[in-house]
Amino acid sequence: MVSLGRRDVVIIGAGVHGLATAWQLARRGVRSVTILEQFEVGHARGSSHGAARITRSSYASLVYAQMMRTARLEEWPALEKDAGEQLIHPCEGCFFGPEKGPFAEYLAVAERLDRTEVERLDRATAQQRFPMFRFEEGDACLIDRTAGVVAADRTVAALARLAAAGGVEILTSTRVLAIDRSRDPMDVHTNRGRLETEKLILTVGPWIGALVPEIALATTPIRQSVGYFELDGAPQSMELPQFPVWVYSEPGPNGLWYGLPAFGTSGVKAAQHRTAGRRDDPDDEAAASEAELAHIEAFLGRRIRWAVKRRVSAETCFYTMTANEDYILAQHPGDPRVTIGAGFSGHGFKLAPVSGRILAELALDGRSTVSAYEQHRAQFQIQK
Ligand SMILES: Cc1cc2nc3c(=O)[nH]c(=O)nc-3n(C[C@H](O)[C@H](O)[C@H](O)COP(=O)(O)OP(=O)(O)OC[C@H]3O[C@@H](n4cnc5c(N)ncnc54)[C@H](O)[C@@H]3O)c2cc1C
Repeated sequence: MVSLGRRDVVIIGAGVHGLATAWQLARRGVRSVTILEQFEVGHARGSSHGAARITRSSYASLVYAQMMRTARLEEWPALEKDAGEQLIHPCEGCFFGPEKGPFAEYLAVAERLDRTEVERLDRATAQQRFPMFRFEEGDACLIDRTAGVVAADRTVAALARLAAAGGVEILTSTRVLAIDRSRDPMDVHTNRGRLETEKLILTVGPWIGALVPEIALATTPIRQSVGYFELDGAPQSMELPQFPVWVYSEPGPNGLWYGLPAFGTSGVKAAQHRTAGRRDDPDDEAAASEAELAHIEAFLGRRIRWAVKRRVSAETCFYTMTANEDYILAQHPGDPRVTIGAGFSGHGFKLAPVSGRILAELALDGRSTVSAYEQHRAQFQIQK
């Protein structure tokens, strides 16, 4: 096999996590870093494509709300400064659902957050502020003033640009076929040749089980269907800042729904957060499911007061689920030369610049300067 030489650090996967880690390594002056990507940067086969993602502080788990402070006050501003462009577009967030249900966890965490940032609204106030939603008896609502839209595809492009400017080599159309950890340095075998590396960072999204069989059971790839809908109302009322980012949480499997204003594409984005029920093959290029899209439209009919005029478009995207929806940000249990970022469970993008920092620091020093991570480190290990 052709030798592609030796590196200090090899990152596998140029999705938002691989690129954020590369940017963080470049910021720390680490040289001899190569990213291996099987497709092109910005492709639509994994989890990081599309115009927009939600960012928020409202969370069902306090540690994520705490890490969001680091993201919002440190890492996103640093990235926007380096990139010379706005990537976070603030707007209010509306988080609601039956008080007696899984939404209670959001309410409990919100109690511990700054009330000027995340505040509980009574139903009448919520209805007034968010006229597009249908609030029912027993519903609770949080307004999140730290929320917004992340320009997702522009973030991926900016990170790739900054990583390359920082000396990181990005090899696209380069699929990793096997990793040989029995050697030091390790061997990484690809469809274009073999690389040797001191350190390895795996950020391969839904392909993690295929590349690291020992954690295949800890993660489940699930394809998501996402719709873009034209609602009955003035076009500008579907856009920032009038139309919020939103999450609705109700009891039952797959009981979470979410959406965003029209941003970078026409129609408001809406989808069901599918976290259970099947395991999909990321190498299989299936289209969005008509049944799932119809289910989303039926939900909009239930909870959005502005009628759906038509579905503008649809797309698919992959979640990599862990059993408790916690990220895996960890060194390989049997080999500290290998660092793994996986299982972002459909909520990783907003924290990617921080997760990239944690992965870079774990690879270099074995520990992170992100205090919320270190205090809850066990929560981010590979769960058996
Ligand atoms: C529908 C949907 C909505 C979402 N909404 C939100 C949201 O509102 N807010 C939020 O914070 N998060 C959200 N997320 C989650 C977020 O988008 C993901 O957590 C994040 O994009 C994961 O990025 P990644 O880099 O880990 O994975 P990916 O983007 O999948 O990147 C992995 C990369 O590894 C490459 N790769 C894999 N195997 C190999 C190999 N053998 N050789 C070489 N390359 C390889 C792949 O080609 C791919 O480019 C959403 C996700 C989806 C799917």
